[in-house]
Amino acid sequence: MNSKHPFYQILFYSKLRRAASVLLSVLMLLNMQSCTRVANDTDVDNAHSLTFFAMDTAMSIKAYGEDRIFENDDPPLEAARDLAEALERKLSVTDEGSIIYRINHSNGAAASVDSETLALLGSALELCDKTEGNLDISIYPLVRAWGFTTDVYRVPGSDEIENLLKITDYRRIILSSEPAPEDPGTDDSTAKSHVLSGSVKIENGMMIDLGAVAKGYAAEKIAGLLHEKGIGSAVISLGGNIKTIGTKPDGSDWNIAIAAPARTGSDSYESPPYAGFLRVSDMSVVTSGGYERYFEEGGKTYCHIIDPSSGRPVDNGILSVTIVAKDSLICDGLSTALFVMGADRATAYWRDNPEFDFIIITDENEILVTEGIENIFTPDESYIESISGRIRAVHLQ
Ligand code: ADP
Ligand code: MG
Repeated sequence: MNSKHPFYQILFYSKLRRAASVLLSVLMLLNMQSCTRVANDTDVDNAHSLTFFAMDTAMSIKAYGEDRIFENDDPPLEAARDLAEALERKLSVTDEGSIIYRINHSNGAAASVDSETLALLGSALELCDKTEGNLDISIYPLVRAWGFTTDVYRVPGSDEIENLLKITDYRRIILSSEPAPEDPGTDDSTAKSHVLSGSVKIENGMMIDLGAVAKGYAAEKIAGLLHEKGIGSAVISLGGNIKTIGTKPDGSDWNIAIAAPARTGSDSYESPPYAGFLRVSDMSVVTSGGYERYFEEGGKTYCHIIDPSSGRPVDNGILSVTIVAKDSLICDGLSTALFVMGADRATAYWRDNPEFDFIIITDENEILVTEGIENIFTPDESYIESISGRIRAVHLQ
């Protein structure tokens, strides 16, 4: 498939295929909601929705409210789409016009940044700290070496990995509330379009990747925008990152479908699309899965989440991690971090920090569900049957 690397058998979900599968999930989700709707709901069914592609994934927003909220000069769903696109332009690791790109190519000098980027980097670094470096936003040199984001997949040699590990350490990302006047980029158009309020300094060769938290952040920003526009009932779905606002218009909870993790490699087989359903309101539900983006070489599968302690794609038996909590940014960071930790360490981590809940699906067909969501999670019986799965409740004690 890839002419430069004829030996590699690359199984990679194309953007189109990912978009199609996510769209399908969203459509089925919407369909499910319509099944649970009260019969005489023509008055309540004033749903407005918009689907678009941004941040490398299909995004969809469904919101309820009076028509006048949606039909004006600055319609909220279009504004939300613009916001997601603007965030992508700003935070993309590959877009040469992004602020992250500027930081990553500043050759060891401090780069000036706007207040939003500074605050987001601050929150992301806090999450790296809280998860003891299992989330590490300085991971990009390794992500790139394995071919993720460049689409030239390869297995780097041990020496190369060792060398890249030496420049992987989020604690060496230095944030300052002083802009860097000597930064030549301070004058360029990207920087000029924002008010500069600080700077970021990383060593030459180090590179930042906000891929593990950007969609969670975008979901929070979109929720804020919809709230400002007077919308109190909505579902924001940013490819695996779902944020619900309020309840459904009839006051009932949203029914969120949790994707069944596709098996990769020789172990692959068809299973029903969903592992189960969660009933929530005013909550975020964020899933990280190794099956979402991967390649195969020599019968081994390599996923896009890298363990910062080994420099290699995670291979610990976890198929997917879903995090449930209020804040999408936190959920997004935790979903990646707990994926890296593996089921046992993730369970121990949750017992020490029980301010969120999780659903972890393992390749031993166990579905671990923490006690806070035990009663609102309904497994899909046909899925459980198809994998001969077991549900295991995880309690604090
Ligand atoms: P997705 O973006 O597919 O929903 P995640 O939120 O789990 O999945 O983020 C994975 C992305 O984060 C990767 O594509 C990569 O860019 C980056 N990444 C990979 N491993 C790590 C890690 N250990 N810490 C921080 N970021 C990571
Ligand atoms: Mg994440």
